[in-house]
Amino acid sequence: MRKHLFSILFLVAAGAIWWASISSTVRNPYADNDNPVIVTSGYVPYTLLKELAGDSVNVLMLLPPGAEPHAFEPTPGALVMLQHADAFVYVSDELEPWAADLAKSVGQKTRVLALAQSFPKTGDPHVWMDPQQAELMAYELSELLADIAPQHRSVTDKNYSKLADELDQLDKDFQTQLANCQSREVVHIGHLAFGNLAQKYNLQLTALAGTSHNGEHSAKKLAALVKQIKQNNIHTIFTEDTLSPRLAQAVAQETGAQILPLYPIEHISKDDFNNNVTYAELMRRNLESLKRGLQCQA
Ligand SMILES: [Zn+2]
Repeated sequence: MRKHLFSILFLVAAGAIWWASISSTVRNPYADNDNPVIVTSGYVPYTLLKELAGDSVNVLMLLPPGAEPHAFEPTPGALVMLQHADAFVYVSDELEPWAADLAKSVGQKTRVLALAQSFPKTGDPHVWMDPQQAELMAYELSELLADIAPQHRSVTDKNYSKLADELDQLDKDFQTQLANCQSREVVHIGHLAFGNLAQKYNLQLTALAGTSHNGEHSAKKLAALVKQIKQNNIHTIFTEDTLSPRLAQAVAQETGAQILPLYPIEHISKDDFNNNVTYAELMRRNLESLKRGLQCQA
């Protein structure tokens, strides 16, 4: 029995020595190449990183396409994935409490970056809805890439400057194209994801639910919205592309308003994910919906 135990201990020790000897050269199981691995919480850091890094970094997203972003429950495998990653990026503790919890357990090897943690608090954690804030997030990501993949710095810098120009233009287009509209009332049958956008471009937003999808939306709030739509002669209501359309359809039926989509970008439909639709493209869809819905003149 004693001899048997000794054999087992010997095998364990030999295995540990063997693992230690090769682990520094072992390829990351979450990548099929030797490039660094960065894991993101949801789609905003994911798409910005892809644009900045191109193929020089493996970017992985924890939130599956179509999943709810605020109260997401990561699988046990997520922590193992994070422990193998060079960095974990999320937006903020307020937006993704689950990501903040995960970040506490990633281990020393993995850098953690909460992109918008130091941004001014506006009561709506969807900070990227202001393209200038998205640009700040992209800048932080470019600095992270410079640390993690310094050999690709010239490409990353070039991509950052192209993206920054694109976001500046996007901001200007929102300002000019939403300047002259029949209505400035945005009634959103969804969660409070567009508060920063409304504030930036001088729109009046009413959202059915709070800042997360689990935020309360009572029958009373719904009735108040229907009343507001009828009283103010509002022609358009907005909904979120990945939410069930039933509630918006019921409001539309009751009020005669048309339904147009808005894209919170933090989560993404499977089709848009597969097509690598960018932040700026989704924001341009938002601009088109708002222009149509609020009857803006270019
Ligand atoms: Zn949200």
